[in-house]
Amino acid sequence: MPQPLRLSAPAKVNLCLAVGDPRPDGYHPLVSLAAAITLEDRVTIEAAPRLQVLCSAAGVPEGEANLAYRAARLLAAAAGREPAVRIRIEKRIPVAAGLAGGSTDAAAVLLGLNRFWALNWSLPRLAELALRLGADVPFCLQGGVALMEGVGERLTPLQGLSPLHLVLAVPPEAPISTAAAYRELDRQRVRGTDLDQARVRVGAAVEAWRAGDLAALGRAFFNDLEPVARRAQPVLNGLIGRMHGAGALGVVVSGSGPATVALCPEPTRAQDLARELAAAGFWAEAVQIRSLPPGRFD
Ligand code: ATP
Repeated sequence: MPQPLRLSAPAKVNLCLAVGDPRPDGYHPLVSLAAAITLEDRVTIEAAPRLQVLCSAAGVPEGEANLAYRAARLLAAAAGREPAVRIRIEKRIPVAAGLAGGSTDAAAVLLGLNRFWALNWSLPRLAELALRLGADVPFCLQGGVALMEGVGERLTPLQGLSPLHLVLAVPPEAPISTAAAYRELDRQRVRGTDLDQARVRVGAAVEAWRAGDLAALGRAFFNDLEPVARRAQPVLNGLIGRMHGAGALGVVVSGSGPATVALCPEPTRAQDLARELAAAGFWAEAVQIRSLPPGRFD
């Protein structure tokens, strides 16, 4: 019987996010600069009589509704075997915050079971299943930094980028769901963002990053969903102002929020800002970009 397998499941932030018009199937095409960060859940897989998911965080479903559970069932069915495993999730990523917590757990389960069951499936083959679980799951399978397009399935990895010192903060108030944020965006605007133009903006952000011009990178952050998130949670206005006031080079809400990212010029500034925000009642942490692919750790 294989030994228990332990995997890291990194959170994701969107440094840029453009949302186009919804397609006939209801999904929204995106152009995003997405990055895995050093904040992570820990996922353990071990043999068990039947599929079971245990999560350390209160309020996260442990059965069918858990994305990690669905990932295990989907891969088992595709591989023609019983999903006889216990999956333990040690939650460190704030839940429903726009950080792809459930998606990264699901991606870790696909990567982990591929190894646990010695399937040796290729990443593209796993990515097909990943997309069925959610738009962020293919990105979470590969990690690093990537240009994300389509409905999350078209990924262009971006390598050799310098480290960034980020602060991540989440207000204590209950968030709105991702689906509600997209619905509200469609209700509020006449047409979606021109994604060709968005690609140019994201290209400029990447160029600034490559050139080491962090001020220009910070200015290039954007998120079409940010106005919706700010209206739903006005506490974000104060948070964003506070981050700018502390000398952040760029501030942006991640995904549908409410997690908010500040780019700091150096690590001490990031640590001071994280401490200040934590003292003010936010969940806050200084984090970095994680360039290593997700996967196993011992
Ligand atoms: P999304 O953008 O996909 O809605 P998110 O990154 O904002 O997600 P998640 O932490 O993935 O937020 O949580 C979204 C919802 O998914 C929560 O309501 C949660 O109960 C449910 N969920 C299912 N599986 C998980 C999981 N493994 N970890 C966290 N939440 C999960």
